[in-house]
Amino acid sequence: MTADGALAPIDFADRARRLSGLLAADGSADAFVVTDVVNVRWLTGLSSSNAAAVLRDDDVTVVTDARYVAQAESAGSGAEVIVGRSVLAAAMKAAVEGRAQRVAVEADTLTLAEFALLQEAASAASVEVMRTTGLVESLRSAKDPGEVDALATACDISVRALSTLVGEVAVGMTEIEVARRLEQLLGRFGAEDRAFPSIVATGPNSAVPHHDPTSRRIENGDILKIDFGARANGYHADCTRTFVVGSEPSPQQQEVHAAVAAAAAAARSELRVGVGVAHLYEVARGVLESLGLAERFTHGLGHGVGLQIHEAPLIAKGTAGTICDGSVVTIEPGVYLPGEFGVRIEDTCHVTTSATTILTDFPRELARIA
Ligand code: ZN
Ligand code: ZN
Repeated sequence: MTADGALAPIDFADRARRLSGLLAADGSADAFVVTDVVNVRWLTGLSSSNAAAVLRDDDVTVVTDARYVAQAESAGSGAEVIVGRSVLAAAMKAAVEGRAQRVAVEADTLTLAEFALLQEAASAASVEVMRTTGLVESLRSAKDPGEVDALATACDISVRALSTLVGEVAVGMTEIEVARRLEQLLGRFGAEDRAFPSIVATGPNSAVPHHDPTSRRIENGDILKIDFGARANGYHADCTRTFVVGSEPSPQQQEVHAAVAAAAAAARSELRVGVGVAHLYEVARGVLESLGLAERFTHGLGHGVGLQIHEAPLIAKGTAGTICDGSVVTIEPGVYLPGEFGVRIEDTCHVTTSATTILTDFPRELARIA
């Protein structure tokens, strides 16, 4: 980040070049119609619910409807903008008119109806459609400097909001009250939105990994588990901390929390460029296994974070892939004792060949609050 807090600029031409190289390696398509709106944003800078991008060689064209023309023109990539009522048809037309023989499309997010429309437009021009999966996503997992700045900003806002919140939480507040107050604080510290609906879980509710906040009131001695994040400049933060409210933690609460903290620390210490994601999961699980808690660790260990809250790579049992240079991923082991309580500790971490940096810099011990 620059001294005045501005984000490092994004090199859209470099992104187009890298995608072009990947497309050439993947098959013989000579054009790519990108329809996933998150991928369109990554490639062109345009944030729109109705847009596509066409890549030919290293050249990118944006297709959108009249509502988004101004944003498309000022999005920063300098790409040519085509306005079309049917974005998909206009995108395929642009690809075909560029004399493409085979046009790649994104199989992961197209609906059957959208695929049929693209195929029809392609057949009419005797052009072949080639399905691809995960091409842009694989490039998105290596964050460039502007993205790392945006992620660090989102994490910073999150930590500041949580620091303020813990000074305000009191016995008798409801989970919903805590969640809404936290989200208000995210806004105050500069978030454009919450990254996802905040999980605020108290007492026995904390044993549910993804609990929706309820009107349950915090009782003295309750575990309070908060999984939340800010979104800033389109980028997401993801952080979980677990507290005890109103009294000192019980020996059991302390024991479970220490186990989860040890699992998280062990996985973070193995987090480096080139490490297999399944290995990271096994490291965390191994720590919990040695403490007899492995069966209570019921979900994956982490995931990539960026323009989406969950993106590649998924870090879980048996998943393929390695951590690449520039990855931003979460490490989030948890232990859940149904009917009693649960503990999760989650950090968003940036990994490069020179260092692993925790972006969610907030104390991890089981602190008593209120
Ligand atoms: Zn989370
Ligand atoms: Zn997460």
